[in-house]
Amino acid sequence: MKTKFETKAIRTQMERSSFQEHSTPLHLTSSFVFEDAEDMRASFTEEKQRNIYSRFSNPNTSEFIQKVCEMEGAEDGVAFASGMGAVFGTFATFLEAGDHVLSARAIFGSTHTLFTNYFPKWNIQTTYFDTDQLDAVETAIQKNTKCIYVESPTNPGVEVIDLEKLGRIAKKHKLLFIVDNCFATPYLQNPIDFGADLVIHSATKLMDGQGRVLGGITVGKKDLIRQLYLFARNTGASLSPFNAWILSKSLETLAVRVDRHCESALELAKRLEAHPEIKWVKYPFLPSHPQHELAKKQMKQGGSIVSFELKGGLKAGKTFIDAIQLCSRSANLGDSRTIVTHPASTTHSKLSKEAQLAVGITGGMIRLSVGLEHVEDLWEDIQNALKK
Ligand SMILES: *Cc1c(COP(=O)(O)O)cnc(C)c1O
Repeated sequence: MKTKFETKAIRTQMERSSFQEHSTPLHLTSSFVFEDAEDMRASFTEEKQRNIYSRFSNPNTSEFIQKVCEMEGAEDGVAFASGMGAVFGTFATFLEAGDHVLSARAIFGSTHTLFTNYFPKWNIQTTYFDTDQLDAVETAIQKNTKCIYVESPTNPGVEVIDLEKLGRIAKKHKLLFIVDNCFATPYLQNPIDFGADLVIHSATKLMDGQGRVLGGITVGKKDLIRQLYLFARNTGASLSPFNAWILSKSLETLAVRVDRHCESALELAKRLEAHPEIKWVKYPFLPSHPQHELAKKQMKQGGSIVSFELKGGLKAGKTFIDAIQLCSRSANLGDSRTIVTHPASTTHSKLSKEAQLAVGITGGMIRLSVGLEHVEDLWEDIQNALKK
């Protein structure tokens, strides 16, 4: 039976044990046993597909991987202990010394640190391009360019990048096109449809959605995933079966959760835009968003992140954060709890002022990760804080 997204998220399930459990059980075991010497031989040569050791595979991680593949329209995947485990594992598998990476400028902080502080020691160089200047991407391609890397929507500027356009450029020049799809989730956007070869997620965010566990995953074409799998099983950043079990359960409710995240985020974005203390609001599904048409083309809804600029600048930004009472002051996102962050003084404080501006961060900018509380309660909290 050909099923839809929500059904796949619930009905993709490992084979039941002899106990006929309804809900997937947790397999907390580091290793697995064999029938006899021949069974063991066939398993180690991979003639037989089965679990050997949980660093290689485990029923719970396999279920999680299979589910995300169904959701992303991917052939196969590898799960990691965290989103950064997936990001690093993916680059470490496909890059070689002397390679060049073309990356969007606005990317997750630790990924930026990886490119800046670690890749140069393996002689891997990175060139950044601006979200609104994709025409510059083609001219920035060098002989040793291996991949194009983006996140969309971006963090924390909530810019939308034309994935189809980049997918075409990557294909034309035989580059790997790698997309971190964490902000959108597979429910709102499937980069593979736009030509992505590999799609990365920090499952820590909306996939878990309740701020409990860390996890990461990379999905894509079978031959690429095979290479990634061999790297992952030998380097050890494997997802724990317990976290995989949590994440697979969480994915059952991803669609209904993200629907509510998006509904509340759009409502708050509209109200903020009409508020006299606010200079601008960025949300992909607001008609005022510079890439609104593109967002509607490649995303189902606008996502859970809203960013806005207070008229009072840096001082107003900090005052707003201090005055918030219900929402959490935290650096995380994609939680059932609404989170407010002041990027200029926290997540992006290591960047110079120019570097901050280049990725759309200003002093009075607030990033709101809209949770699942009642939207009127959230608005009351935000409105009260704005009065300060
Ligand atoms: C959080 C995040 C990561 C890193 O994930 P962890 O699970 O924290 O390691 C990578 N990319 C994006 C876009 C993120 O938001």
